[in-house]
Formats: sequence, C-alpha cells, structure tokens
Amino acid sequence: MRVTVLGVTVDTYTMAETVEKIKLAVRGQTAIRIVTANPEMIYASQYNSDLKNVLNSADIITADGIGVVWAVRQLGAQIKERVTGIDLVQSLFPIANAEKWRIYFLGGRPGVAERAVEEVSSDYPAITFCFNHGYFSLQEEADIIKKITDFKPDVLLVGLGAPRQEFWLEEHPGLAYVGIGVGGSFDALAG
Ligand code: UDP
Repeated sequence: MRVTVLGVTVDTYTMAETVEKIKLAVRGQTAIRIVTANPEMIYASQYNSDLKNVLNSADIITADGIGVVWAVRQLGAQIKERVTGIDLVQSLFPIANAEKWRIYFLGGRPGVAERAVEEVSSDYPAITFCFNHGYFSLQEEADIIKKITDFKPDVLLVGLGAPRQEFWLEEHPGLAYVGIGVGGSFDALAG
C-alpha cells in the first residue's frame, strides 16, 4: 500500500517485502530505484520541489524511521515496521550471497567502502564487490561511471548523504538493476 505523507508517497512494505521486490527486480532484470525516506528528507522536500519529485518518482519509498511509521499510521494505514537503509543493506546480503550478485558500494570517506567490502566479503564470499569512495570531483565522476558500467552491478548502493545520493541515482539511471541511497551505511559496515 502507498500513503502520502506531507506530499511524499511512502510504501508500507515490511523489510521482507522490500527484499522480495529487490530479488524480483534483479531476477527479472528490471531497473528500480529505492529511497529510504526519513523525516528529515520528507521535511526538506516541503521546501524543495525537485527533492519531492525525486522522492515521488522512486519505485519504492520505505519508511525510514519511527517518525515516518507514526505518520503513516496517523493516516489510517497499517505498517508493521520501519525499513532503514542500513537494515535493508544488511538484509540483502544473505540473498545476494545465495544468488551470487554483484554489488557496487559508492560513497564514504576514502578507505571506508573498501573496509566495508572486506568485512561483508568475509561473511558473504559469493558476492562480488566493487567500490569507490564518495569524495570525487566532476571530472573523476566520469571515470567512476565507467567503472560502474564495466562492473555491471546487480545492485548499486550509493552513500553520498541525503539528498545528494537520491539526486545522483535519479540522474544516473541504468547503472544497475537496483539503486538504493544508503546514507552512512558504509561507515557502519566498515565498523
Ligand atoms: N559522503 C560522501 N561524499 C560526500 C559527503 C558525504 O561519500 O561528499 C558520505 C559520508 O562519508 C557518509 C555519508 O555520505 O558516509 C553520509 O552519511 P550520513 O549518515 O551523514 O548521511 P545520512 O544517513 O544522514 O544521509
């Protein structure tokens, strides 16, 4: 079910349902873009129509945070749980490992995505990773896009901070079947 919270559509999917949608997108080779919408993003979109459009044009918008879950319930809809970026990423690894997906990490300070890849690879050795840090110039961006295109990821996780990562994914469609803005998740994964 979809609900509109302050003009932003929010899906009421559980974590398991969200992971299932991602699995189907990769298996079906259908491109989808996912936003985990936290209250700050929804608030910021009240004053930024470009941001509102980027959120509303996503294929899946999860309720990232108890404040968003609360707002959805206030509107009379049922929603079981929040689906945050880091929780979603962690929930994807078992299926990604089972299905031998290719995953690209883009974002974080230099060294962070690399450490995150090392950590996750030790638990999920069947996933193939590639990565780049998130402090690149416009000139370097072209090389990164080529690197992503050549790698052909099933899933592209972009952790450049909100809302930049949401705009970035919208402006660069077709780089992976599934694109997700994940905030500071690489920092968490790197430990
Ligand atoms: N970041 C980046 N490039 C930048 C600015 C930020 O890769 O130019 C990364 C930063 O290192 C961090 C993430 O983006 O890993 C932002 O994390 P934060 O938790 O602040 O973002 P939020 O979850 O609030 O979107």
